[in-house]
Amino acid sequence: MTPAAGRVGDKEETMAKIMIIGAGGVGNVVAKKCAMHPEVFGEIWLASRTLAKCEAIAAEVKQVCGVEISTARVDADNVAELAALLDRVGPELVINVALPYQDLHIMDACLLCGVHYLDTANYEPEDTAHFEYSWQWAYQDRFRDKGLMAVLGCGFDPGVTNVFCAYARKHLYDSIETIDILDCNAGDHGHPFATNFNPEINIREVTQVVRHWRDGAWVETPPILDDGAVHFSFDYPLVGPRESYLLYHEEMESLVRHFDGLRRIRFWMTFGQPYLTHLKVLENIGMTRIDEVEFEGQKIVPIRFLKALLPDPGSLGATYSGKTVIGCIFDGTRDGKRRRTYLYNVCDHAESFKEVQSQAISYTTGVPAMIGAMMMVEGVWRGEGVFNIEQLDPDRFMDELNKNGLPWQVVDFDGTLPD
Ligand code: NDP
Repeated sequence: MTPAAGRVGDKEETMAKIMIIGAGGVGNVVAKKCAMHPEVFGEIWLASRTLAKCEAIAAEVKQVCGVEISTARVDADNVAELAALLDRVGPELVINVALPYQDLHIMDACLLCGVHYLDTANYEPEDTAHFEYSWQWAYQDRFRDKGLMAVLGCGFDPGVTNVFCAYARKHLYDSIETIDILDCNAGDHGHPFATNFNPEINIREVTQVVRHWRDGAWVETPPILDDGAVHFSFDYPLVGPRESYLLYHEEMESLVRHFDGLRRIRFWMTFGQPYLTHLKVLENIGMTRIDEVEFEGQKIVPIRFLKALLPDPGSLGATYSGKTVIGCIFDGTRDGKRRRTYLYNVCDHAESFKEVQSQAISYTTGVPAMIGAMMMVEGVWRGEGVFNIEQLDPDRFMDELNKNGLPWQVVDFDGTLPD
């Protein structure tokens, strides 16, 4: 096996060899955005379970960016197989944009081979629809002892939202009391029902019991499909009022841990009534179940069968119009005065498609993953162990958002939020 690497970014040559794992909607964006920076990413590998998907993306990368990338087939749940590939190729960094189920296996292979690690979604066991950071935080000593860096949750949310919080703490506030993260997709893909990223992961996430943090404890409220779900109409920049539902989202867990004195943090996501009605019906008839059921002499998992029927999120871009607006509203004090600010990005589905043949959800995930990788291989982010990105300096990352297709705004906020 390759000996443990030095600190990320510690090397003579400036161009890095990286391996992207996962050739879905997000993998497509990461591959193209990395290929647009040959001065940073000198050699790009794309590996996934289905080689044909890697090859299709590689052909588009060549066409769009004029860059050759290498491809490989790998089952990332097979640590020995993945470690053999990492050893053969010798990348400096793995960008994991496969599914959350693979996170720990990919981290294990990185440890074996001395490779740094970055992902966009926290680990979730396949048989339980529950995600939390504890499993990956438990790798802290192992990554530190090998002199390796693992950066967790570097998409948009988690990801950019965490960086927005770090930026607000560094530049806008002496003390932050409350954070409201608001995620609005005001786009229209033209299908009666589709999910914007992997349907299985997406539906597991949005059907959970909702939690938010208030006065030192997690408070539970009903899931978005139940009568008691908490929602309100928020007037989003450029797109107008949209019904926004309280939802549990993983970045709240790490932000509560890394922001002292936070009195409240909530996450809101917009859902249209047709989406909620479809999902309610699917849930009522058992199509969102994640356990095996007997069907014509074989076992199937209903949510996986549903995934096979739904549009591939990666294919939605061609007809998608409208915008996403994702950001954070902060309430706190600066120089003894109360201050409320709104820090957000607006991304356009059609513009994303024009640039990298992707809708805006994959785009807003893939661009930050590329920027995080850039921060690591350039040594802007350095460290040994496991990090959430609010623990790292936000400044260069914020600059790169502006340069790489995700410009942000910060404004005073004078609207109202539910108490
Ligand atoms: P897709 O389902 O489109 O792509 C996932 C890819 O991973 C597929 O190519 C799939 O292969 C591959 N894969 C699955 N299992 C394995 C395995 N065992 N070994 C190797 N490859 C495997 O998902 P998305 O691109 O939409 O999402 C990718 C990730 O991004 C997810 O983890 C998702 O949660 C995360 N995400 C994060 C967001 C954020 O803002 N932080 C927002 C949106 C997504 P195959 O094609 O063969 O199935």
